[in-house]
Amino acid sequence: MTTADSVVNATLTQHKVAGIEWLPQRMRSHGSLAWAILSGRRGTLWLLLFVLVTVMLGTLVWLAGRYEASQVQEKLERDAGDAVQDIRTALTRNLQQMQALQNESATGVNWIAESTQLLRDRRELLRLEWRDSAVNVMWNVSSPYQPRLFSRVTRAQLQSDVVQTCSLARRASSPIYSVSYFLPQEEGSGQEVMDLCLPLVTSGRITGYLVASYSLPNMLSDLVGPQLARGQEVSFTETDGTRLAMHGAARRGSRIFTTQQLLNLPGNTLVLRMDSRRTGPDLFPNVLTALVTVLSIALMSVVVMLGRDMRRRMLAERNLADALAFRKAMEDSLITGLQARDMQGHIRYVNPAFCEMVGYSSEELLDNQADSEAAPHGPPSSPYWPPEKVDEIRLGITQRQSSKAKLRDGVETVFVRKDGRRLPVLMFVAPLINALGEQTGWMSAFVDLTEQRRIEEMSRASQERLQATARLATVGEMASLLSHELNQPLAAISSYASGSLNMLEQSTSALGADLRIAMTRIAEQAERAGKVIKSVHNFVRRREGQREQVDPSALFEAVMPLVNLQASKLEVKVQIRVGQALPQVWCDRTMLEQVLLNLVRNGMQAMALVDVALRQLSLEVERAGESVLFSVTDCGVGITAEVAQQLFEPFFTTKLEGMGLGLSLCRTVVEQHGGILEFERRSPQGTIFRFSLPLR
Ligand code: ADP
Repeated sequence: MTTADSVVNATLTQHKVAGIEWLPQRMRSHGSLAWAILSGRRGTLWLLLFVLVTVMLGTLVWLAGRYEASQVQEKLERDAGDAVQDIRTALTRNLQQMQALQNESATGVNWIAESTQLLRDRRELLRLEWRDSAVNVMWNVSSPYQPRLFSRVTRAQLQSDVVQTCSLARRASSPIYSVSYFLPQEEGSGQEVMDLCLPLVTSGRITGYLVASYSLPNMLSDLVGPQLARGQEVSFTETDGTRLAMHGAARRGSRIFTTQQLLNLPGNTLVLRMDSRRTGPDLFPNVLTALVTVLSIALMSVVVMLGRDMRRRMLAERNLADALAFRKAMEDSLITGLQARDMQGHIRYVNPAFCEMVGYSSEELLDNQADSEAAPHGPPSSPYWPPEKVDEIRLGITQRQSSKAKLRDGVETVFVRKDGRRLPVLMFVAPLINALGEQTGWMSAFVDLTEQRRIEEMSRASQERLQATARLATVGEMASLLSHELNQPLAAISSYASGSLNMLEQSTSALGADLRIAMTRIAEQAERAGKVIKSVHNFVRRREGQREQVDPSALFEAVMPLVNLQASKLEVKVQIRVGQALPQVWCDRTMLEQVLLNLVRNGMQAMALVDVALRQLSLEVERAGESVLFSVTDCGVGITAEVAQQLFEPFFTTKLEGMGLGLSLCRTVVEQHGGILEFERRSPQGTIFRFSLPLR
């Protein structure tokens, strides 16, 4: 496979693996600035989203908290309303029972008994007094639970309030409650007390009063207390907020809910205040808030995860863009023309090398395809197809596309450039497979063969020339050999003829005279033959005149195309080493090129049987004193002692098709130039042939 083939195949394989059909042009110029702007804007958007979600979630949690607080507040208000109602009901019931005490037949004794019973039942009542006037107490009974009520302060000291209340009651002819007052007790304690004055009416006349003392703390604990929820506190306050009595210990808590309800009684108005404290942390006050909070956290996590995913995606996108840009750059710098067609045969992509090859811009090639209809029997024609070959190329493409087996082999064709020049190209077609493994079109690669053709042509011409020269040289060598070989027999003939003539000098016979003439003729002819041979010899040796000053490296350059041709055929690596500052040599250029070629050819042939990895041949030239030394080193089979003896003999060869004249010719040529040709064994294997050319 040639280098061009491997480049093309590598390119095609890459296309197949990556599954890229045609790369977008814009991928090329993604600068880091664009990325920075893009990611900057995305960053702002993300920040905005984050802030919005946080605000929304915060609001939600806050609203849920508020809703829950309003629920608590409402419940508290309902409880307070119920408490007021309970107190009112209890007071009314007490009033009725007190009225029942004062029936017509009430006497002091049974009044005391019934009153004691009432006080026993109603703990909020502290004392009952039956007065015949506002001032005078006839009978009185104290609660068994508070027997020493008036021990620190006497009842008389508190008389004015009772009197005032009773006068009000008398005027209104209905029960009246007094303003509450603090009743100190023993051991420094005391309690807020409120009196009720109930006028006793007999036959439409007020005959006395029933005065009942209510304990405000007991009212709260007995009338409201049982219904009070944990964590609630209930109290009576004055309108200015002063606390008169309270019940229930509110636990400590961060939030306090408060409500107040008026307890309107005839003669007095009390304010019932209810407090509720929320205990524990208020972050998750109820299930709703907790749910909203959990959902918020979940939402935030999703946003964060989305953000992370986005970042990873962006990174992947950037890597992809980089990879595409890199691939694009690779394709742009390829010297192989690339072209992608879709399944209908329309050109979808061409690389710069292809445009360069055919002289059309990529727009021209793509536009042209956009207008043209697909031919019924193949792809639409392209402007660079030679008019007379359109059908042939189309048929070639169709056949190649249908016979997948031979796709990888290149096919040679001719393109016409836009400027009319024709160029030979080698075309490879391969199916274009996308990432899903489906075929989306055809990928073609083209190698311009113009330069290759030119080199081949040059090599062929120079090989022909060298072969002709070689043949001439061989003939010359043979002629030279013949003349050398014939000179001696001719000299012998000549001397025998002169000897015979000398002997015939004395003879006077007619025969002798004839023989003398014949001998003279023989001597003359022998001399003539000698002259002919000498002239041939001179002719062969007369190449002196063609000598010139030549750069040793120029000799190498001249033979390299041929050497390379042979080397690639035999898979031999060739190395050239030219010494520094070499002087020019006076030589017959053609003959010396022939010598070099012969030595190189022998070396390569000697390596035909050794391992490919070892096939190395080096050509060197360097200065050695007053001469220039050329050497050709191979790693071949080497020369045995037996072969070495006859090596330079004409017609000695060990090859089937060999002539055996190569080395003898080389030696002759080198010697004609005043140099020496010799060889040496190379270790571990191979041979080194050296020849020197003296400087003149
Ligand atoms: P030919 O190449 O036609 O055989 P040559 O005169 O060039 O004639 O070579 C004579 C013989 O010398 C070859 O047949 C070969 O056996 C041997 N010979 C020449 N060069 C080498 C070499 N580099 N290594 C081994 N043998 C060689």
